[in-house]
Amino acid sequence: MLPHFLDSTVELITRTSTDLPPDVRAAMRSAVQTEAPQTRGGQALTIIAQNIDQAASCEGPICQDTGMPTFEVKVPVGANQIELRLQIREAVAEATRRGKLRPNSVDSITGENSGDNLGPGTPIIHFDQWLEPEIEVKLILKGGGCENTNAQYALPTDLDHLGRADRSLEGVRKCILHAVWKAQGKGCSPGAVGVCIGGDRTSGYLHAKEQLFRTLDDMNPDERLARVEQAVMEEANRLTVGPMGFGGQTSLIGCKIGALNRLPASFFVSIAYDCWAFRRLGVRLDATTGAIASWLYREAATPSVPMLPAGTADGFPRTGREIPLQAPITEEQIRALKVGDVVLISGRVVTGRDAVHAHLMKHEPPVDLHGAVLYHCGPVVTKGAREGEGWKVTAAGPTTSIREEPYQAEIIKRYGVRAVIGKGGMGARTLAGLKESGAVYLNAVGGAAQFYARCIERVAGVSLLEFGTPEAMWQLDVRDFPAIVTMDSHGNSLHKEIEEASGAVLEKLGARS
Ligand code: SF4
Repeated sequence: MLPHFLDSTVELITRTSTDLPPDVRAAMRSAVQTEAPQTRGGQALTIIAQNIDQAASCEGPICQDTGMPTFEVKVPVGANQIELRLQIREAVAEATRRGKLRPNSVDSITGENSGDNLGPGTPIIHFDQWLEPEIEVKLILKGGGCENTNAQYALPTDLDHLGRADRSLEGVRKCILHAVWKAQGKGCSPGAVGVCIGGDRTSGYLHAKEQLFRTLDDMNPDERLARVEQAVMEEANRLTVGPMGFGGQTSLIGCKIGALNRLPASFFVSIAYDCWAFRRLGVRLDATTGAIASWLYREAATPSVPMLPAGTADGFPRTGREIPLQAPITEEQIRALKVGDVVLISGRVVTGRDAVHAHLMKHEPPVDLHGAVLYHCGPVVTKGAREGEGWKVTAAGPTTSIREEPYQAEIIKRYGVRAVIGKGGMGARTLAGLKESGAVYLNAVGGAAQFYARCIERVAGVSLLEFGTPEAMWQLDVRDFPAIVTMDSHGNSLHKEIEEASGAVLEKLGARS
């Protein structure tokens, strides 16, 4: 039994969830400097930068989706791995109780949330032995939005816009560019990719994820792979996908490639996409006490250098052209909006994501949705321990909207919803539904959970709590909640435009080979 191991692991989880490592901060700072501040991409990055600083200063989750906790543990010979595994699980439950992790472990058959992030397969813990005297624990928190944009290719194959990808490094380059292009804003760009060439389907994905433990500024020791990494970085940032898929010059902040041997018949390229909320840290521990001896990826447990200069005003960087919207909203107000408008929403916003959408297809909503703003969001909420203390939202960014595509148009029409807030955009069926019913899709900045939590004045109520806190229907009173109209009621979609424009660039990059 190591007396400090549990506390050290809780500290590691807390830091990882709330404070981005210096290499990611440096990459994001460079992105902020690249995009012009008054562009959509520039505004999104300013919000992201504020969010990063806010999360570190209040020790709140950087993004409300605190992801799948994945631990890579190296132990000296003789360490009791059974005991360490139990303590890591206890640390995960404790960090969840403290609101540093959102309850994210859901029974795949019943949909029931375990409430403490423990369950079959969660958290993921990998052990290895090594010859060092200390214990090393590395942790990555990778959320669902970016996990869903992972991709695996079996070469040779044909790719949209890029043509044939052969079994060569050139084919690998094309696959990575294709994956970045497909991710658009759904994985909260700018992101980073870990890539594995080879292996089998299982080991390929694992090795791809392991590449994300490399720092963004390191150099691949294999010169051939280093060249591909560099080429992808240059080309992906010419795609014009931009921050959150809003268009711009920064789509990728890192590309890390590894290779495993493969069977002669197989040639997989596995890609693990991580978002800008690239939460990865590690510690070295004294193997006799479990106390933290040193941090990996950061100097010490002191707060990181802020993203924004001291004195930068908090809040949305306004241009004076923002349109205030008070919920409930009328059809006339909605029809006046067009793609590119920035709105500031005040009044009641109702959350709803996967479970709520499936529920509303068969049941009446528990609250009136006429004129409502429906927010695709699974917040982190805590309840005061004392009698009479209510709910508090501590992180509340948007989730990926495309998952609700099969339901959205019908729910808008049936219940009179006027605005949907989410991220990454929606498809043709929803676009047609917005036009028919007089509604808009508003894109908020993905992962900016602290920023948006500060726009919430009050939790007015909650319904369907039996779905678990991320999936419940929270009624939130907000003030000046900023979002961009990216799909309007006239059939226009910024997402479609950016996808087409970036597809044309991709075509040129494909023709290069
Ligand atoms: S920043 Fe976006 S993709 Fe990343 S975990 Fe948060 S919501 Fe998911």
